[in-house]
Amino acid sequence: MALNDSVLAAIGNTPLIKLRRASEETGCTILGKAEFMNPGASVKDRAALGIITAAIERGELRPGGLIVDGTAGNTGIGLTIVGNALGMKTVIVIPETQSQEKKDALRSLGATLIEVPAVPYRNDNNYVRVAGRTAQRLAREHPEGAIWANQFDNVANRDIHVRTTGPEIWQQTEGGIDGFVSAIGTGGTLAGVAEALRARRAGIAIALADVPGAAMHSYYSSGELKAEGSSITEGIGQGRVTANLEGFQPDHSFRIADAESLDIVYRLIREEGLALGLSSGVNIAGAIRLARELGPGKTIVTMLCDPASRYQSRLFNPDFLRAKGLAPPDWLEQPQVVKP
Ligand code: PMP
Repeated sequence: MALNDSVLAAIGNTPLIKLRRASEETGCTILGKAEFMNPGASVKDRAALGIITAAIERGELRPGGLIVDGTAGNTGIGLTIVGNALGMKTVIVIPETQSQEKKDALRSLGATLIEVPAVPYRNDNNYVRVAGRTAQRLAREHPEGAIWANQFDNVANRDIHVRTTGPEIWQQTEGGIDGFVSAIGTGGTLAGVAEALRARRAGIAIALADVPGAAMHSYYSSGELKAEGSSITEGIGQGRVTANLEGFQPDHSFRIADAESLDIVYRLIREEGLALGLSSGVNIAGAIRLARELGPGKTIVTMLCDPASRYQSRLFNPDFLRAKGLAPPDWLEQPQVVKP
């Protein structure tokens, strides 16, 4: 496949951006990988490309075929962009609690959307299980066949980070990287980048930034899958050891409250002109914690997963925020003082 002939050439090779305030506050160099610059505007374009390419190579997917997956939205957007470029259609199962912006983006791109109630993984009607069953049925019914992308347990997701994201970070820092931090959705990013970086520098510090309501911080700290509280962060927050996480263990683990990650997101907009989604705020909060543990002078990289615009109706909606017990950014509520 000649990747340069299509939009697929624009996936990956994202810049590393210095995060000024986080760096100044800690005396470290904290860098963010600008994954929001991918064509589907998120880190999940990489996983989509990895999963679809692997399925084509195995002979399971061809033009005309269907790609089915359960996703919080970003993977669905990535799968649809890659699928459109290669002549395949997508059927995306999404929990109805995800942002309207992501659902609208999916419909605009031509995905068939199935919205399901947000229920835990153990429930038969969980979006991941619905996607698996739907794919099985469509594989029988659709003349050109169908695959279940299965991003959580398909290690083609982790592998693309081993082959692209990790080596890019190593090259961009010229091997001068001391730590890497990421939240976990599927775990593909954290486990994949960790594998690539540990192979190049034994002893590099790998850290998890977890949200309330997820079980991985508890799992990696005490061995117990225990989830407490909740978070408005979309796309992250895992409750089980996915296949992408098998064999992985972080060196550090932090739990980040929504008020902390939101404050980072709002300040980055006003002070550095970077408008990011909340999982990026979680990642940067984790990078600051890791910087404090490692001490000044270190270089730490994290992921800037997607843009703030994907959550306009939530992160910039005072009513939504107050209903969640969170403070809206002050500039949204201040009267406009400049008269025309
Ligand atoms: N941030 C956002 C906004 C996401 O959509 C995702 C993926 N669901 C992640 C972070 C986590 O990435 P991964 O699935 O590789 O763990």
